[in-house]
Amino acid sequence: MKYKKLLRRAFLFSLVLIIITGNKPGASAYSNPNTTLRIGLYYDNDTLASANLEAKVGNGFEFGYFTSDRNFVSLGAISETKITMMKDLNMYLGSDYKYYDAEPQSIKDIVGCYHILLDSSADSYAAAVSIAGNYGDAFPAYYNGVWRVCVGSYTSYDGAQAAMAQRGISGTAMSASSACITVTITGTTKIIFEFDCGSNLSLAVSAIDGTDSTGTAKKAQSWFKGRSYYGAFEYTRLTGKNITVVNIVDIEDYVKGVIPYEMGPGWPAEALKAQALCARTYGAARVNNHKSKGFDLCNTTCCQAYCGTDGANADTDKAVDETAGLYVLHNGELCDTVFHSSDGGATEHSENVFYAAEPYLRGVKDNFESMVNTGYASWSFTYSADEITWILRQKGFNCGNIVSITPTYTENGNIYSLKFTDSNGKSWTFSKSNAGSILYSSSLKKYTYSQRFTVVSSDNSGVALYVNSASNPVQDNTGLYAVGTGGEIRALGNTGQLSVITASGQETVSILGSGVTQSGSSYIVSGSGWGHNVGMSQYGANAMAKLGYTYEDIIKFYYTGVSIG
Ligand SMILES: [Zn+2]
Repeated sequence: MKYKKLLRRAFLFSLVLIIITGNKPGASAYSNPNTTLRIGLYYDNDTLASANLEAKVGNGFEFGYFTSDRNFVSLGAISETKITMMKDLNMYLGSDYKYYDAEPQSIKDIVGCYHILLDSSADSYAAAVSIAGNYGDAFPAYYNGVWRVCVGSYTSYDGAQAAMAQRGISGTAMSASSACITVTITGTTKIIFEFDCGSNLSLAVSAIDGTDSTGTAKKAQSWFKGRSYYGAFEYTRLTGKNITVVNIVDIEDYVKGVIPYEMGPGWPAEALKAQALCARTYGAARVNNHKSKGFDLCNTTCCQAYCGTDGANADTDKAVDETAGLYVLHNGELCDTVFHSSDGGATEHSENVFYAAEPYLRGVKDNFESMVNTGYASWSFTYSADEITWILRQKGFNCGNIVSITPTYTENGNIYSLKFTDSNGKSWTFSKSNAGSILYSSSLKKYTYSQRFTVVSSDNSGVALYVNSASNPVQDNTGLYAVGTGGEIRALGNTGQLSVITASGQETVSILGSGVTQSGSSYIVSGSGWGHNVGMSQYGANAMAKLGYTYEDIIKFYYTGVSIG
């Protein structure tokens, strides 16, 4: 029944949209000034002493640097397909053929960081390679914008000095700055080149496009730490420490590395396209999100999960290609297209969850999502008053025993605030996303998965009021009317309790209304959905796509008043 009704509505809805969108084809195309994104892969506490890179598809690597306007300047190319970028320190090659900056149990060899710097400079990488060819163990070095040639690798200054005398080479014993990156052939101590431009420029390495076994041209992909990526890699030793690794990638290739991890690859095409639009717009809107760390977006859910090309398949790539260059816009500006897994029945206004009111982030009642299995359609946890007291204290609130909870709800029926009162009459109020998370406790294995839940004293359970077999009890009397025997209609005041006549006589019904204080020895927290409830519901998009809606319909349902261009 419900399904048919929705189908009918779906049909009408899409007709209306065809008329609207048909009037202005491509009216407001957005010209993105930042189609190249910088994505942090290893940073903060995850910086690396050495970083391997292996060509997956391609013919060797080009190396150089990126200018501040994100253009790659190539300095030279190598045909090697397995290279390692490492700190220019004495680096140990273990007998496991991995590199260590501290001596491992079993050493095979050492990449020494002291060299003999030849007096002359070279005009180009090729010229430096040519000079280096005169020595068995020399390599080109790009130091502060000038090509030089270094000979040998020694573990001490004295060692380099002694070798210089012994070998009769005219030069200077030296070690480069704490910004220097040494590049070797992976698994060996053979240095290919060094790059040290202090804090001015960072070494960038980009795989060269290649061909597959049939000779068809293929965009280069590189393996790094077990994942493959399009684009280039940049290596920076911030403050002279370990290496921060940034993937510098075209926004379309970035989106190809996001949607398989944000939505299952088997999802309907229109849902994948809606996700591609969200991921692209979100990425473009957050250029410089982590500017102080040297990149735009990180690769975790802090920004958006991004794991390179491995999870992509023909369907997910197609969803990106078919929406290439399209963004979600409001008044011609990029929208902050936040999204979540499932809304449990209604999304929420942005200002009721995390920040200022965005005109396009309006909560909507979602009748689509319940048609698919979200895995979080309904969940419920019972907390004793003692457990609630314990959680609050654990989270740093110096409260007495909690004796009551007063929840308030938004007009869409999501949680807005929770006020906890202790036996001394003191109270603590948490609102918006804090209301959503304050009762979340991994230790107790009791969770609030979304912003959509109710908190009811167990003393009130079982006598809540349900209207027309709704899955959630009535939270608010507004809109409820009593019809008298003479047909008179009277609005029910928004009190905490109502009396109803049942087969067993008069019973009190609790209205779990906004601002109605719940008190007792335990509380039932029950809800639906998973995520922050703002913007697009991914499962809702899935359901809409299954009903025949297009990606445009999906985007315009979850983001109010937007255009696509
Ligand atoms: Zn981030």
